[in-house]
Amino acid sequence: MFVTMRSGASEADVLGVKSRILAEGLTPYEHAGAAGLAIAVVGEIGNGRRAELIDRLGGLAGVERVTPIQRPFKLTSRDFHPEDSVVRVLDAAIGDGSLTVMAGPCSVESRAQLLETAEAVAAAGGTVLRGGAFKPRTSPYSFQGLGVEALRYLAEARDRTGLPVVTEVMEPNQVDIVAEYADILQIGARNMQNYSLLNAAGRVARPIMLKRGFGATVEELLMAAEYIVVAGNPNVILCERGIRTFETYTRNTMDLAAVPLLHRLSHLPVVVDPSHATGKRWLVPPLAMGGVAVGADGVMVEVHPDPDAALSDAEQQLDLGQFARLMATLIPMHEQVRGVDHGQVLGGDGRAADPSADWLARH
Ligand code: PEP
Ligand code: MN
Repeated sequence: MFVTMRSGASEADVLGVKSRILAEGLTPYEHAGAAGLAIAVVGEIGNGRRAELIDRLGGLAGVERVTPIQRPFKLTSRDFHPEDSVVRVLDAAIGDGSLTVMAGPCSVESRAQLLETAEAVAAAGGTVLRGGAFKPRTSPYSFQGLGVEALRYLAEARDRTGLPVVTEVMEPNQVDIVAEYADILQIGARNMQNYSLLNAAGRVARPIMLKRGFGATVEELLMAAEYIVVAGNPNVILCERGIRTFETYTRNTMDLAAVPLLHRLSHLPVVVDPSHATGKRWLVPPLAMGGVAVGADGVMVEVHPDPDAALSDAEQQLDLGQFARLMATLIPMHEQVRGVDHGQVLGGDGRAADPSADWLARH
Protein backbone atom coordinates (compact mmCIF):
# COMPACT_ATOMS: atom_id res chain seq x y z
CA MET A 1 0.00 0.00 0.00
CA PHE A 2 1.04 3.61 -0.31
CA VAL A 3 0.01 6.82 1.38
CA THR A 4 -0.63 9.92 -0.73
CA MET A 5 -0.02 13.14 1.19
CA ARG A 6 -2.26 16.19 0.73
CA SER A 7 -0.69 19.01 -1.26
CA GLY A 8 -0.63 21.20 1.86
CA ALA A 9 0.87 18.53 4.15
CA SER A 10 3.68 19.83 6.36
CA GLU A 11 7.06 18.23 6.94
CA ALA A 12 5.84 17.25 10.38
CA ASP A 13 2.89 15.43 8.76
CA VAL A 14 5.27 13.50 6.49
CA LEU A 15 7.47 12.66 9.45
CA GLY A 16 4.40 11.52 11.40
CA VAL A 17 3.43 9.09 8.64
CA LYS A 18 6.96 7.75 8.30
CA SER A 19 7.35 7.22 12.04
CA ARG A 20 4.01 5.40 12.18
CA ILE A 21 5.15 3.09 9.37
CA LEU A 22 8.46 2.43 11.15
CA ALA A 23 6.64 1.80 14.42
CA GLU A 24 4.69 -0.93 12.62
CA GLY A 25 7.97 -2.63 11.78
CA LEU A 26 7.63 -1.58 8.12
CA THR A 27 9.71 0.68 5.90
CA PRO A 28 8.55 3.94 4.26
CA TYR A 29 9.77 4.71 0.75
CA GLU A 30 9.04 8.15 -0.72
CA HIS A 31 8.21 9.08 -4.29
CA ALA A 32 7.49 12.69 -5.21
CA GLY A 33 5.42 12.38 -8.37
CA ALA A 34 2.99 14.46 -10.39
CA ALA A 35 0.16 13.46 -8.04
CA GLY A 36 2.09 14.69 -4.99
CA LEU A 37 4.18 12.93 -2.40
CA ALA A 38 3.49 9.20 -2.12
CA ILE A 39 4.97 7.06 0.65
CA ALA A 40 5.05 3.33 0.00
CA VAL A 41 4.77 0.99 2.96
CA VAL A 42 7.05 -1.94 2.31
CA GLY A 43 7.54 -5.09 4.33
CA GLU A 44 5.52 -8.10 5.33
CA ILE A 45 2.12 -6.64 6.15
CA GLY A 46 0.01 -9.79 6.32
CA ASN A 47 -3.74 -9.92 5.77
CA GLY A 48 -4.55 -9.80 9.49
CA ARG A 49 -3.63 -6.16 10.01
CA ARG A 50 -4.03 -4.76 6.48
CA ALA A 51 -7.45 -3.11 6.95
CA GLU A 52 -6.51 -1.77 10.37
CA LEU A 53 -3.25 -0.34 9.02
CA ILE A 54 -5.05 1.39 6.14
CA ASP A 55 -7.44 2.99 8.67
CA ARG A 56 -4.66 4.01 11.01
CA LEU A 57 -2.50 5.61 8.31
CA GLY A 58 -5.56 7.17 6.65
CA GLY A 59 -6.39 8.97 9.90
CA LEU A 60 -2.99 10.67 10.27
CA ALA A 61 -2.55 14.42 9.73
CA GLY A 62 -1.84 15.47 6.13
CA VAL A 63 -2.89 12.15 4.58
CA GLU A 64 -5.04 12.34 1.47
CA ARG A 65 -5.63 8.61 0.99
CA VAL A 66 -4.14 5.14 1.37
CA THR A 67 -4.10 2.94 -1.75
CA PRO A 68 -3.38 -0.78 -1.76
CA ILE A 69 -0.81 -1.97 -4.35
CA GLN A 70 -2.41 -5.01 -5.96
CA ARG A 71 0.82 -6.63 -7.02
CA PRO A 72 3.69 -8.46 -5.38
CA PHE A 73 6.14 -5.89 -6.75
CA LYS A 74 5.58 -2.55 -5.06
CA LEU A 75 8.30 0.04 -5.65
CA THR A 76 8.75 -1.07 -9.24
CA SER A 77 5.01 -0.98 -9.99
CA ARG A 78 3.23 1.76 -11.87
CA ASP A 79 0.53 1.81 -9.19
CA PHE A 80 2.97 3.48 -6.82
CA HIS A 81 5.04 5.37 -9.41
CA PRO A 82 2.89 6.32 -12.41
CA GLU A 83 5.54 8.34 -14.28
CA ASP A 84 8.21 6.67 -16.40
CA SER A 85 11.54 6.40 -14.61
CA VAL A 86 14.47 7.89 -16.45
CA VAL A 87 17.93 6.51 -15.73
CA ARG A 88 20.59 9.16 -16.30
CA VAL A 89 24.24 8.28 -16.66
CA LEU A 90 26.87 10.69 -18.06
CA ASP A 91 25.20 12.20 -21.15
CA ALA A 92 22.79 9.30 -21.65
CA ALA A 93 19.17 9.26 -20.50
CA ILE A 94 17.44 5.90 -20.67
CA GLY A 95 13.65 5.95 -20.62
CA ASP A 96 13.12 9.62 -21.56
CA GLY A 97 11.70 8.86 -25.00
CA SER A 98 15.06 8.91 -26.75
CA LEU A 99 16.49 5.75 -28.32
CA THR A 100 19.22 4.13 -26.25
CA VAL A 101 21.54 1.87 -28.20
CA MET A 102 23.99 -0.18 -26.17
CA ALA A 103 26.53 -1.76 -28.46
CA GLY A 104 29.91 -3.39 -28.30
CA PRO A 105 31.55 -6.78 -28.28
CA CYS A 106 30.23 -9.78 -26.41
CA SER A 107 33.64 -9.99 -24.70
CA VAL A 108 36.42 -7.45 -24.43
CA GLU A 109 39.24 -9.37 -26.11
CA SER A 110 41.98 -6.76 -26.40
CA ARG A 111 42.53 -3.04 -26.04
CA ALA A 112 42.68 -2.57 -29.82
CA GLN A 113 39.49 -4.57 -30.43
CA LEU A 114 37.56 -2.58 -27.83
CA LEU A 115 38.81 0.86 -28.84
CA GLU A 116 38.11 0.24 -32.52
CA THR A 117 34.60 -0.93 -31.70
CA ALA A 118 33.98 1.95 -29.31
CA GLU A 119 34.91 4.57 -31.91
CA ALA A 120 32.64 2.91 -34.48
CA VAL A 121 29.74 2.63 -32.01
CA ALA A 122 30.04 6.31 -31.10
CA ALA A 123 30.36 7.39 -34.73
CA ALA A 124 27.23 5.47 -35.72
CA GLY A 125 25.17 7.07 -32.94
CA GLY A 126 25.33 4.39 -30.26
CA THR A 127 24.71 5.82 -26.79
CA VAL A 128 26.24 3.21 -24.44
CA LEU A 129 29.27 0.96 -24.96
CA ARG A 130 28.96 -2.65 -23.87
CA GLY A 131 31.68 -5.26 -23.40
CA GLY A 132 31.98 -8.32 -21.22
CA ALA A 133 34.90 -8.42 -18.79
CA PHE A 134 33.71 -11.28 -16.57
CA LYS A 135 31.90 -13.77 -18.79
CA PRO A 136 29.30 -16.30 -17.66
CA ARG A 137 30.08 -19.14 -20.05
CA THR A 138 28.12 -22.36 -20.33
CA SER A 139 31.37 -24.31 -20.67
CA PRO A 140 34.23 -23.95 -18.21
CA TYR A 141 36.59 -24.49 -21.17
CA SER A 142 35.34 -21.40 -23.05
CA PHE A 143 36.98 -17.96 -22.84
CA GLN A 144 36.08 -16.52 -19.44
CA GLY A 145 36.89 -12.86 -20.12
CA LEU A 146 39.89 -10.64 -19.37
CA GLY A 147 38.51 -9.52 -16.01
CA VAL A 148 40.02 -6.38 -14.50
CA GLU A 149 42.23 -5.80 -17.55
CA ALA A 150 39.02 -5.52 -19.61
CA LEU A 151 37.54 -3.09 -17.08
CA ARG A 152 40.54 -0.81 -17.63
CA TYR A 153 40.04 -0.89 -21.41
CA LEU A 154 36.34 -0.11 -20.95
CA ALA A 155 37.17 2.92 -18.80
CA GLU A 156 39.70 4.09 -21.40
CA ALA A 157 37.09 3.67 -24.17
CA ARG A 158 34.59 5.66 -22.10
CA ASP A 159 37.13 8.44 -21.62
CA ARG A 160 37.86 8.58 -25.35
CA THR A 161 34.29 8.46 -26.64
CA GLY A 162 32.27 9.93 -23.79
CA LEU A 163 29.97 6.89 -23.93
CA PRO A 164 28.99 5.34 -20.60
CA VAL A 165 30.00 1.70 -20.38
CA VAL A 166 27.98 -1.29 -19.25
CA THR A 167 29.51 -4.58 -18.22
CA GLU A 168 28.40 -7.65 -16.34
CA VAL A 169 29.04 -8.35 -12.69
CA MET A 170 28.67 -11.99 -11.70
CA GLU A 171 29.31 -12.04 -7.97
CA PRO A 172 28.60 -9.77 -5.00
CA ASN A 173 32.31 -9.46 -4.23
CA GLN A 174 32.95 -8.10 -7.77
CA VAL A 175 30.45 -5.26 -7.42
CA ASP A 176 32.90 -2.71 -6.01
CA ILE A 177 35.64 -3.31 -8.54
CA VAL A 178 33.23 -3.29 -11.49
CA ALA A 179 31.57 -0.12 -10.16
CA GLU A 180 34.99 1.51 -9.95
CA TYR A 181 35.37 1.29 -13.75
CA ALA A 182 31.89 0.89 -15.25
CA ASP A 183 28.97 3.31 -15.43
CA ILE A 184 26.19 0.71 -15.58
CA LEU A 185 26.41 -2.75 -14.00
CA GLN A 186 24.75 -5.62 -15.81
CA ILE A 187 23.23 -8.59 -14.04
CA GLY A 188 23.00 -11.40 -16.57
CA ALA A 189 20.20 -13.81 -17.30
CA ARG A 190 21.90 -16.61 -15.36
CA ASN A 191 22.02 -14.45 -12.25
CA MET A 192 18.59 -12.82 -12.35
CA GLN A 193 17.59 -14.59 -9.14
CA ASN A 194 20.96 -14.46 -7.41
CA TYR A 195 19.62 -12.68 -4.36
CA SER A 196 22.92 -11.80 -2.73
CA LEU A 197 23.99 -10.20 -6.03
CA LEU A 198 20.68 -8.31 -6.30
CA ASN A 199 21.12 -7.02 -2.75
CA ALA A 200 24.69 -5.93 -3.46
CA ALA A 201 23.47 -4.18 -6.64
CA GLY A 202 20.93 -2.36 -4.50
CA ARG A 203 23.68 -0.81 -2.44
CA VAL A 204 25.95 0.48 -5.20
CA ALA A 205 25.76 4.00 -6.67
CA ARG A 206 25.51 2.83 -10.28
CA PRO A 207 22.49 2.04 -12.48
CA ILE A 208 21.83 -1.67 -12.92
CA MET A 209 20.73 -3.37 -16.11
CA LEU A 210 18.87 -6.50 -15.09
CA LYS A 211 18.44 -9.16 -17.76
CA ARG A 212 15.49 -11.50 -17.72
CA GLY A 213 16.38 -15.07 -16.87
CA PHE A 214 15.72 -17.45 -19.75
CA GLY A 215 13.23 -19.37 -17.61
CA ALA A 216 11.78 -16.40 -15.77
CA THR A 217 8.31 -14.92 -15.99
CA VAL A 218 7.72 -11.21 -16.27
CA GLU A 219 6.56 -11.21 -12.67
CA GLU A 220 9.78 -12.92 -11.53
CA LEU A 221 11.81 -10.32 -13.44
CA LEU A 222 9.96 -7.52 -11.67
CA MET A 223 10.38 -9.21 -8.30
CA ALA A 224 14.13 -9.42 -8.96
CA ALA A 225 14.15 -5.70 -9.83
CA GLU A 226 12.22 -5.06 -6.62
CA TYR A 227 15.13 -6.54 -4.62
CA ILE A 228 17.49 -3.95 -6.11
CA VAL A 229 15.14 -1.00 -5.62
CA VAL A 230 14.13 -1.85 -2.08
CA ALA A 231 17.80 -2.29 -1.16
CA GLY A 232 18.29 1.37 -2.11
CA ASN A 233 19.01 1.64 -5.84
CA PRO A 234 16.10 3.03 -7.90
CA ASN A 235 18.10 3.12 -11.16
CA VAL A 236 17.20 -0.18 -12.76
CA ILE A 237 16.87 -0.91 -16.48
CA LEU A 238 15.06 -4.10 -17.47
CA CYS A 239 16.26 -6.17 -20.42
CA GLU A 240 14.27 -8.69 -22.44
CA ARG A 241 16.90 -11.04 -23.92
CA GLY A 242 14.82 -14.00 -25.00
CA ILE A 243 13.43 -16.93 -23.10
CA ARG A 244 13.88 -20.64 -23.69
CA THR A 245 11.03 -22.34 -25.51
CA PHE A 246 10.64 -25.53 -27.59
CA GLU A 247 12.07 -23.67 -30.60
CA THR A 248 15.65 -24.68 -31.27
CA TYR A 249 16.43 -22.85 -34.49
CA THR A 250 16.91 -19.63 -32.56
CA ARG A 251 19.08 -19.50 -29.44
CA ASN A 252 16.09 -18.20 -27.46
CA THR A 253 12.64 -16.84 -28.25
CA MET A 254 12.40 -13.07 -28.04
CA ASP A 255 9.33 -12.18 -26.03
CA LEU A 256 8.31 -8.93 -27.67
CA ALA A 257 5.02 -8.84 -25.76
CA ALA A 258 7.06 -8.48 -22.57
CA VAL A 259 8.02 -4.94 -23.62
CA PRO A 260 4.56 -3.30 -23.56
CA LEU A 261 3.62 -5.59 -20.68
CA LEU A 262 6.56 -4.41 -18.58
CA HIS A 263 5.77 -0.82 -19.51
CA ARG A 264 2.21 -1.33 -18.34
CA LEU A 265 3.16 -2.99 -15.07
CA SER A 266 6.26 -0.97 -14.20
CA HIS A 267 7.77 2.50 -14.57
CA LEU A 268 11.27 1.15 -15.24
CA PRO A 269 12.88 1.53 -18.69
CA VAL A 270 12.96 -1.57 -20.88
CA VAL A 271 15.57 -2.51 -23.47
CA VAL A 272 15.70 -5.51 -25.77
CA ASP A 273 18.70 -7.63 -26.66
CA PRO A 274 18.08 -9.27 -30.04
CA SER A 275 21.65 -10.66 -30.14
CA HIS A 276 21.25 -13.11 -27.26
CA ALA A 277 17.57 -13.57 -28.04
CA THR A 278 18.20 -14.95 -31.51
CA GLY A 279 21.84 -16.05 -31.56
CA LYS A 280 21.92 -15.33 -35.32
CA ARG A 281 23.39 -12.25 -36.95
CA TRP A 282 20.79 -11.99 -39.69
CA LEU A 283 17.96 -12.02 -37.16
CA VAL A 284 19.38 -9.13 -35.14
CA PRO A 285 18.21 -6.24 -37.39
CA PRO A 286 14.56 -7.36 -37.73
CA LEU A 287 14.26 -8.09 -34.00
CA ALA A 288 15.96 -4.81 -33.07
CA MET A 289 13.35 -3.08 -35.21
CA GLY A 290 10.64 -5.18 -33.61
CA GLY A 291 11.77 -4.03 -30.18
CA VAL A 292 11.68 -0.39 -31.23
CA ALA A 293 8.24 -0.88 -32.81
CA VAL A 294 6.74 -2.24 -29.59
CA GLY A 295 8.10 0.71 -27.63
CA ALA A 296 11.40 -0.45 -26.13
CA ASP A 297 13.45 2.38 -24.63
CA GLY A 298 16.56 0.87 -26.10
CA VAL A 299 18.32 -1.95 -27.86
CA MET A 300 21.45 -3.84 -26.89
CA VAL A 301 23.44 -5.24 -29.82
CA GLU A 302 26.71 -7.16 -29.94
CA VAL A 303 29.22 -5.61 -32.35
CA HIS A 304 32.74 -6.79 -33.20
CA PRO A 305 35.33 -5.65 -35.77
CA ASP A 306 35.72 -9.24 -36.98
CA PRO A 307 32.74 -11.24 -35.70
CA ASP A 308 33.79 -14.58 -37.17
CA ALA A 309 37.00 -14.42 -35.14
CA ALA A 310 35.23 -13.45 -31.90
CA LEU A 311 36.15 -15.43 -28.79
CA SER A 312 32.49 -15.64 -27.76
CA ASP A 313 29.12 -15.42 -29.52
CA ALA A 314 30.72 -15.19 -32.97
CA GLU A 315 27.52 -16.08 -34.81
CA GLN A 316 25.42 -13.27 -33.43
CA GLN A 317 27.73 -10.26 -33.52
CA LEU A 318 27.39 -7.59 -36.21
CA ASP A 319 30.45 -6.14 -37.85
CA LEU A 320 31.05 -2.39 -37.68
CA GLY A 321 29.50 -1.64 -41.07
CA GLN A 322 26.44 -3.74 -40.32
CA PHE A 323 25.98 -1.90 -37.07
CA ALA A 324 26.22 1.50 -38.77
CA ARG A 325 23.58 0.42 -41.31
CA LEU A 326 21.34 -0.88 -38.53
CA MET A 327 21.60 2.49 -36.79
CA ALA A 328 20.73 4.29 -40.00
CA THR A 329 17.51 2.26 -40.10
CA LEU A 330 16.67 2.31 -36.40
CA ILE A 331 17.02 6.04 -35.78
CA PRO A 332 14.39 7.21 -38.31
CA MET A 333 12.18 4.28 -37.38
CA HIS A 334 12.31 5.29 -33.74
CA GLU A 335 11.44 8.87 -34.71
CA GLN A 336 8.32 7.54 -36.39
CA VAL A 337 7.14 5.31 -33.58
CA ARG A 338 8.13 7.41 -30.56
CA GLY A 339 5.14 8.83 -28.83
CA VAL A 340 2.78 6.31 -30.43
CA ASP A 341 0.15 5.42 -27.89
CA HIS A 342 -0.60 1.76 -28.58
CA GLY A 343 -3.50 1.81 -26.11
CA GLN A 344 -5.25 4.44 -28.20
CA VAL A 345 -6.01 1.83 -30.86
CA LEU A 346 -8.39 0.07 -28.51
CA GLY A 347 -9.91 3.27 -27.18
CA GLY A 348 -10.65 4.10 -23.56
CA ASP A 349 -11.56 0.59 -22.45
CA GLY A 350 -8.50 -0.98 -23.97
CA ARG A 351 -6.24 1.45 -22.22
CA ALA A 352 -7.86 0.79 -18.87
CA ALA A 353 -7.81 -2.99 -19.27
CA ASP A 354 -5.51 -4.71 -16.82
CA PRO A 355 -3.06 -7.03 -18.59
CA SER A 356 -2.79 -9.17 -15.50
CA ALA A 357 -6.45 -9.34 -14.51
CA ASP A 358 -6.14 -13.11 -14.24
CA TRP A 359 -3.08 -12.71 -12.07
CA LEU A 360 -5.01 -10.36 -9.79
CA ALA A 361 -7.78 -12.92 -9.48
CA ARG A 362 -5.25 -15.51 -8.31
CA HIS A 363 -3.62 -13.29 -5.69
C1 PEP B 1 25.72 -10.63 -22.14
O1 PEP B 1 24.95 -9.68 -22.40
O2 PEP B 1 26.94 -10.53 -22.22
C2 PEP B 1 25.16 -11.91 -21.69
C3 PEP B 1 25.94 -12.88 -21.23
O3 PEP B 1 23.83 -11.99 -21.82
P1 PEP B 1 22.76 -12.92 -21.04
O4 PEP B 1 23.03 -12.77 -19.58
O5 PEP B 1 21.44 -12.32 -21.46
O6 PEP B 1 22.95 -14.32 -21.55
MN1 MN C 1 27.28 -12.51 -25.74
